[in-house]
Amino acid sequence: MNKQIKIELSFIDRITQKAKKANRICLENNCSDNAINSHILQKNGILNTITTNGHLYMLKVSMMEAQGKFHKIGINNIFTFKGFCNKHDTLLFDYIENNIFNITEYKTKILFCYRAVLNELRKKNKSILISTT
Ligand SMILES: [Zn+2]
Repeated sequence: MNKQIKIELSFIDRITQKAKKANRICLENNCSDNAINSHILQKNGILNTITTNGHLYMLKVSMMEAQGKFHKIGINNIFTFKGFCNKHDTLLFDYIENNIFNITEYKTKILFCYRAVLNELRKKNKSILISTT
């Protein structure tokens, strides 16, 4: 890898990390509170069943090293995105966070789909931020 490519990849890596760590405002209309890290999947249901001592392994790809490595990550920091503030996240998703998990139920499917769509929205926001930096 030549020096110019290393410089460009390093720059992309820095702005990507900055975009990932940036605070986000709650997605609820007219709410200006900071968004919390919301789990895409049910932390106290689905994720707990596949963790070991509260951790999971996640593949992270490094452009600088041109390879991927598995990293041990705590359950509070994996499969999350910044969607809503604590109040609105609880109002919207309490049903799937604090009830017995039943994926065959229509309301459960809708709520998980909604979270997945919002996660994709945030990914696109990050990509736009990175591409305009
Ligand atoms: Zn809010």
